[in-house]
Order: sequence, then C-alpha cells, then structure tokens
Amino acid sequence: MPIFGKLKNTLNLLRSIDLDKLAAINQKIDLAKAMNALGDLDERQLKGLMKLVQSKGKKGQHHLPPIDADFYKLETKLSKEERALQMKVRNFMETEIRPLANKSWYTAEFPMQVIDKFKTLGIAGMTYQGYGCPHLSNVMEGILTQEMARVDASITTFFGVHSGLAMGSIYLLGSETQKQEWLPEMQKLEKIGAFGLTEPDGGSDVSQGMKTTCKFDGENWVLNGQKKWIGNATFADVIIIWARDLDSGHVKGFLVKKENPGFKAERIKGKMALRTVQNALITLKDCKVPENDRLQHANSFKDTARVLRMTRAGVAWIAVGLSRGAYESALKYTKKREQFGRPIAAYQLIQNHLVEMFSNLTAMQTLVYRLSEMQDEEILTDEHASLAKVYCTMRMRDIVSRAREVMGGNGILLEYDVARFVADAEAIYSYEGTKEINTMIVGRAITGYSAFVN
Ligand SMILES: Cc1cc2nc3c(=O)[nH]c(=O)nc-3n(C[C@H](O)[C@H](O)[C@H](O)COP(=O)(O)OP(=O)(O)OC[C@H]3O[C@@H](n4cnc5c(N)ncnc54)[C@H](O)[C@@H]3O)c2cc1C
Repeated sequence: MPIFGKLKNTLNLLRSIDLDKLAAINQKIDLAKAMNALGDLDERQLKGLMKLVQSKGKKGQHHLPPIDADFYKLETKLSKEERALQMKVRNFMETEIRPLANKSWYTAEFPMQVIDKFKTLGIAGMTYQGYGCPHLSNVMEGILTQEMARVDASITTFFGVHSGLAMGSIYLLGSETQKQEWLPEMQKLEKIGAFGLTEPDGGSDVSQGMKTTCKFDGENWVLNGQKKWIGNATFADVIIIWARDLDSGHVKGFLVKKENPGFKAERIKGKMALRTVQNALITLKDCKVPENDRLQHANSFKDTARVLRMTRAGVAWIAVGLSRGAYESALKYTKKREQFGRPIAAYQLIQNHLVEMFSNLTAMQTLVYRLSEMQDEEILTDEHASLAKVYCTMRMRDIVSRAREVMGGNGILLEYDVARFVADAEAIYSYEGTKEINTMIVGRAITGYSAFVN
C-alpha cells in the first residue's frame, strides 16, 4: 500500500479511538500483550472474535426477528379497518388499563374512571345491529376480547357482562320498546348492565333448581329470592334478573333498576380472582317490577340459554387473551433475567416451558378463530362453544402455571402481572359453565348418552 494510503488509514483509526475507553480497558487487561496476541491470530480466528464482540459475549444468541404471540398470523385475515381497531384497543389497554390493573386488583376496587375512557372506544354491543352498535363480526369481537384479556381479565369481565350478557339479553329477548329504551345508552356506557342468574344454592343446576320466584299480582310482577356472584351489580343501572314464575313454572327475565326499593346488592368480599370485578350477592324482597320491564321474548330457560350460547364463545377468547398475556410476560422476563451468566431463556428446560406454552396458545387461537367464524356462519352449536370453553380454560391453567414457574420468586409478585393472571384464570375456569358441565354437554353430543341427572 502506498505511504499516503497507509497514513490515511492510520489517521482514520486514530480518530475512531475513544481514549477514555482505551484507558479504562487498559486498567482491566494488559493492552500491549493483547495487541501482540491479536497480531498472531489468523483471519478465521479474528472473524470469530469479531462475532463474539458483536454479540456482546452472549453465547448462542441469534438475532432473529421477534416472534409475535400470533404465530400462525390469524391477524392477517383481518381487513385494514379491523386491524386498525384491534391496534386501537391494544393501545387503549396498554396506556389506560395496564398502569392501574394491579392496583385495582390489589385494592379490589373498580376504577370507575375507566368507564368514561371506555366510551371513547365505541365498541359496546360489538356484534349487534342498530341502536348505535358497531355490528362487527363475531371473529372481530373475539380478537378484541383477546386484546383486552391479555392485559386485564377483570376489566374484560366487566365489559363482557355489560356488553355480552346484559345488552345481549335485551338485544335477543327484549321488545322493540325495551331495546330502544336501553341499548343506545348502554352502547355509550351511559348506563351499565349486569346479569343475575346464579343463586347461592343454584349454580350448575340453576336451570332446574332456580329458587328466585316471580308472581304477577294483577298490577306488577313481585320478585323474591337471592342471586350470587353477579358482576357489576353493585353499581349497575339495570340488572337482568331471572326468576321462576310461580304460576306457569317457567323462567322469566326482568329489567330490574338499581333504585327499586326491593332490590339490594352487597359486594362479595375476599375473592382471590378477578378482584377488580364487583361481584354482588343480590337480595330481592317483594321487589316490584312493572310488566313493561319484563323481557317480552323470554318465555322459558331455553331463551336464557340463547344468551349464554352467544357469550360462551367470548369466555373461550378471554382464556386465550389471558394466556397470551401470561406467555408474553414470561417470554420477556426469561430473556432479561440472567442466571449462571446467561439469560434463562437460553436454557433448554426454560425453552421447553416456553414452547409448550406457545404451542398451546397457538392451538387455542386457531380453535377460537374457527369457533367465531362458525358463529358468523350461523352454524355454531352449544357443543362447539362448550368444547372451546373446556379446552381453552384447561390449557390456560397450564400456561399460567408454566409462566409463573419460569419467573421463579418474581412469579408470585403482583408487579410482574403473571401472579394476577394465575389467580384470575381460576374464576374464568369456573364461570359460565364449569369444566364438568361443558364436558357433559360435549359428551352427550358425541355419545348420544346424557350424563346429566335428568
Ligand atoms: C368471578 C365470578 C363471576 C361470576 N359472574 C356471574 C354473573 O355475572 N352472573 C351470574 O349469573 N353468575 C356469575 N357467576 C357464577 C358462575 O357462573 C358459577 O359460579 C358457575 O356456573 C358454577 O356454579 P357454582 O359456583 O354454583 O358451582 P357448583 O354448580 O356448585 O359446582 C361445584 C362443582 O361441582 C361440579 N358439578 C356440578 N354438577 C355436576 C354434575 N352433574 N356432575 C359432575 N360435576 C358436577 C361443578 O363442575 C364444580 O366443579 C360468576 C362466578 C364467578 C366465580
């Protein structure tokens, strides 16, 4: 190389050297010796050394693009507008809900300010047509439910009870006047709804063992009895109450207003799951409801079941979202947490947990996607929804326990989110039909034998 070329290279090299850094390195190693040793290395050895330097010494770490928790790219099936709405909800959950999720859960208080914030999304009554509702597909409702539950299953449950169970009862079973009276305001979250079916002595068998009664006294319906676990009921404006008619023996539905003198809702305290949700024990004592507030198309428990069929698919999506949240937290944590000089994500046994979680999550996502497609195609049956609820909630329990495990001690600390997911999974596992009840529904369909008592 001509002398000027050599001089130019040397000058460039000198300019690129940070003398302070060089002095600091010199304190740790003998730089002169290191330079001599470097001069003895061949080209292959030098290249290997450069690779090590560039990976900052993290052996075995490959710079692959990050793997998203929607591995089979179901979201690519959404239109541009649907994808934008999904991202809007994701952003809302990350910025408005995540910062307060753990505190609300810990104090077991519902953050009422969230209702005003939710109004800006305009997504209540997602799949319904008219009354200000957005008339989205069931697939889209599922995708948005997943987005909510990956951050906070309590807030998702609040929203599901209001938008699915309460608005859904009115949408499916109300008269046109009742729909006009309630749905537009509920869509805007100006009025909040609750759904009272379960009783202290009647859970899985509530269709047969319902003790809450109603009787028409010539002027009003008179309701007596108790309802347990009723989400949102401590502050809801309208509570759908299911009661057995003492005369016909059939189950009827009523729009009970919170100010009704015969209505009392007491918060259930001491929950270890979904602590932010305000579940109530409702007592109805000669609670008078005018005929105008009886759901006009609810004539038997078969009609109640129509509402539950519509919402059960949503619970499977909640299980998927919660599992996704737990998996994502665990993955992030294992990539950061170092033990024995390497991120724990680099160890085979940890990767085994992560891949088990990831494969279950991917199977769940593809299952519920098809489930909602079937709902859109109007070919969904109770058995389809039950199978998805059983499968997804079982896998969810496995995913959250692995997420907790790979996080060691921090897995039981609220601030890392996964502890909340572990606890919340327990409520989702049981509500809207337990594993046993949904299993018997599928069992009956595939064998032809009913394992129910009668
Ligand atoms: C956090 C939370 C929120 C809820 N929100 C609402 C709400 O807003 N509105 C509402 O109406 N309800 C609500 N529920 C009630 C929920 O739907 C019930 O808890 C659920 O249906 C189960 O009823 P149960 O708790 O009475 O259990 P039970 O019916 O007493 O069941 C106890 C156990 O026995 C099993 N079992 C029962 N029968 C059989 C059988 N024949 N064979 C085999 N096993 C059987 C069950 O699977 C379960 O494992 C909520 C519950 C929770 C925990």
